[in-house]
Amino acid sequence: TAPVLEIRNLNVEYGLGAEAVHAVRDVSLTLHRGEVLGLAGESGSGKSTLAYGMTRLLPPPGVITGGQVVYHPAEGDPYDVLGLSDRDLRGFRWNETAIVFQGAMNSLNPVHKISTQLTDVLKAHDPRMSEHSRNARAREMLKLVGISPDRMEAYPHQLSGGMRQRVMIGMALILQPQVVIMDEPTTALDVVMQRQILGQLIELRERLGFSVIFITHDLSLLVEFSNRIAIMYGGRIVEEAPAAAVYRDALHPYSAGLLGSFPALRGPRRELTGIPGSPPDLKGMPSGCSFHPRCARAFDPCADTIPILGRPDTPDGATRSVACWLHPAAQPVGS
Ligand code: ATP
Ligand code: SF4
Ligand code: MG
Repeated sequence: TAPVLEIRNLNVEYGLGAEAVHAVRDVSLTLHRGEVLGLAGESGSGKSTLAYGMTRLLPPPGVITGGQVVYHPAEGDPYDVLGLSDRDLRGFRWNETAIVFQGAMNSLNPVHKISTQLTDVLKAHDPRMSEHSRNARAREMLKLVGISPDRMEAYPHQLSGGMRQRVMIGMALILQPQVVIMDEPTTALDVVMQRQILGQLIELRERLGFSVIFITHDLSLLVEFSNRIAIMYGGRIVEEAPAAAVYRDALHPYSAGLLGSFPALRGPRRELTGIPGSPPDLKGMPSGCSFHPRCARAFDPCADTIPILGRPDTPDGATRSVACWLHPAAQPVGS
């Protein structure tokens, strides 16, 4: 299917010069129309930085030091989001791409009613919309995310965590964006609630037709709900494949390790084994494959040369790529 967002060789650094932390390294990733793309990786691997970078919401001292983010609108020519003026960027953010941030449920304004917060988004976007239409749209949106319209006049503290999270999703969807990015929206919620909310989002996607980038530590959720999964390590994508393929046979030893450390989808939860060692220090990255100090399968080239994503031949023809010297298709960086 057609792409809706193409990230090309994106680089993001925090700070400048010798002290800079290179948090996103040459990341290329394509989101296709209608799909759910899951992004996984340990804490500090650069997932949020990638999400902020592609929407230009990086907090200082974050800077984009290279790359392109090509957006394909429903109508008209594709354009590079990194080249938008501040004014065009505001429109892009709500109308085309919306983000639900990590811990977003706590970012509702405590002194305003739910109804006001939803209708304010509409007002800011289209001052000519009548109050009546704004209220009707807000009501309809709450219904879609499973909140009874009689809660419209509630304040955030009168709602449960799960309901506040639904309100945030409603706010993100109210202008009918084509792309919704969710950055670990559910970590603060219990597992049952996480699955429920994500399931609901997927159902809405089927009805409204947007695409989703979903970021989480919980690989089991991604396996269950996403079409494709990209896995980050030390600022790079190390594997990208259809969700079922990752689950069946992860090609990168790090992905395999993450899978080994995730609890069974159903049934009793297993003890998490995790991957021995800790994530790399971005200021002093290991040479070669940055995973090599932790990799049980490391061999000759691993400590010397950085592998970048290559496409192994897959018997089922699925498009997948992996950055690991165990797979002949991997390429040296700079090739
Ligand atoms: P988590 O799963 O914990 O949310 P993440 O994969 O989203 O982690 P990021 O938040 O993108 O990771 O962080 C990537 C790297 O960038 C980390 O090493 C982090 O320390 C660094 N970093 C993030 N924000 C800043 C900042 N404002 N200033 C300096 N370094 C930062
Ligand atoms: Fe392990 Fe080498 Fe593959 Fe890196 S390139 S994941 S060190 S086998
Ligand atoms: Mg994060």
